[in-house]
This record gives sequence, structure tokens and C-alpha cells, in this order.
Amino acid sequence: MAFDAKNMELHRSEGVEYLTFPSFSAYPFVRHAFSTRAGGVSKNEYSSMNLGFGRGDGDENVRENYRRFCRAAGLDYDSLVSSAQDHHTFIRRVGKEQHGVGIRKPKDMQSVDGLITNEPGVTLVTHYADCVPVYLLDPVKRAIGLVHAGWRGTVARIAEAAVSAMTREFGSRPADLLAGIGPSIGPCCFEVDSPVRDVFAALSDLNPGDLIRDDGNGKYHVDLWETNRRILMRAGVPASSITVGGVCTRCNADLLFSHRATGGKRGGLAAFLALTEEEAEK
Ligand SMILES: [Zn+2]
Repeated sequence: MAFDAKNMELHRSEGVEYLTFPSFSAYPFVRHAFSTRAGGVSKNEYSSMNLGFGRGDGDENVRENYRRFCRAAGLDYDSLVSSAQDHHTFIRRVGKEQHGVGIRKPKDMQSVDGLITNEPGVTLVTHYADCVPVYLLDPVKRAIGLVHAGWRGTVARIAEAAVSAMTREFGSRPADLLAGIGPSIGPCCFEVDSPVRDVFAALSDLNPGDLIRDDGNGKYHVDLWETNRRILMRAGVPASSITVGGVCTRCNADLLFSHRATGGKRGGLAAFLALTEEEAEK
């Protein structure tokens, strides 16, 4: 395959393909993955690993895809806890009492774009098809966070909101945190008009000039990865602890679902992050 994973690793197991950050895999008490389109049961535009409910695919297909994905990626299906995303910045602390929410059970809350926990055996799940996943790990306090940052969530600084929530709830020090910016629409493909460009240009503390490329035809390209990286650094996460995965969903629409590449006729990708109850054998 011609796919270049840049700063992530592509794995294949039981026909399922998924991506990981080597920087997170280094911790034996952490499990994480980001899905691809490969290895599921869904058909047509959902083919085949659709992990998005409510897009027109059958719920039983989506659940079967979660089961297959979890088995292949070494995750516990019963421990999944989903977000309820709507481009806001609310961060929810979850635990085992939320097991199954949004996957095996109905959602029990609206407007949850980020999840945090310090309980081992709770797998955080968030949903994508161009928006930016931000993975956070505090290996000192043993806590994790996972947020959905579309362009609205990015400029509303949901990544910083997650760092603050981990500090408040778990006593995390930003200087201890590890971050991973996952597969999403890259600076190569995120084209916007001037109203969105103006919102990014107003991020004056982030040196926004080089986050935006003027195409000279009324269109602009914005770098969501670098914007989130700078927001994390402003929040106190060391630059050396942040991995930008560098995987563009739109450039890799054969492997990954991209909203823009498909005009919205698509399945959904998911990010997974958990602390394990037992240290991994590897
Ligand atoms: Zn691209």
C-alpha cells in the first residue's frame, strides 16, 4: 500500500486496519487506536468499518464493526464509553458507571465533545471524518483525555479545556502530559472562505499568520493540526511531548472516511483511548 503513515503506525489484524501513535504505545498501561475503513461488515458508502451511528447504516452493523474493531485492536468492547459531539467544548469525566453509553446503550447526555477518565478499564470513544482527534495522556497521575476538535472546537480551544479539566479533576500537571493529534483534514486540504479564515486570524496569541495560507482567489487553507499544537503548548504541554500524526483524511480517502472527499456520503471513524486494568504483556 502506498499509504505513508508519517508519525503514526498502520497495523493490520484479522482484516482490520488501524493506526497508533508510537509515543503512546510506549506506555504498557495504555491502549489506543484510530480506526480506518478496513475490516468491517458495512456496505456501499459505509464500507466497511463504519463506526458512526445515525448515518443511515444499520445499528447492528455498526455494533458488529465495534466488536470486530475491538477484538483486532486489543480493546474491550464492553468498556466503551462514547462522546455526544456537537462542536462545543464541554468535557465529561466518565467512569465504569458509563460503560456502554452511546454504543451498547443510548446516549445519556448531549453536547459532550471531550471525555476524560482516570479509571482503568474505561475506553473513551470519539467520532470523526475530517475533524481533529486530540489524545491526551498523563503518565504520572495515570489519567487520559480524548477530544473532538473540528474547526469550531479548535478555535474555541477544546484542547486547552481538556488540559484544564485533567488538571482540575486529576491534579495533572500540563508539563507531564503527552499529546497526539490524530488523522483529520490536513493543511493540504482544509480550504475555507474568508469568514472562517477571519476566525483563525483573530487567534492573536497563536501567531496566526502562518496558520493560514492565502490562495489568492478568495479561498484560504488553514492548518488545524498546527493550531491545536500551539493551543496545547499555550496550555503548558511541552512541544517535545506533542505528536502531530500528519495523516490527512481527505488525501487518504481510500483508507479513511473523509466528509469533504465524499460530500457527506460516508461512514464514521473513531478514536479509542483507555488505561488498562493490567499492564500489557508487550
Ligand atoms: Zn490532504
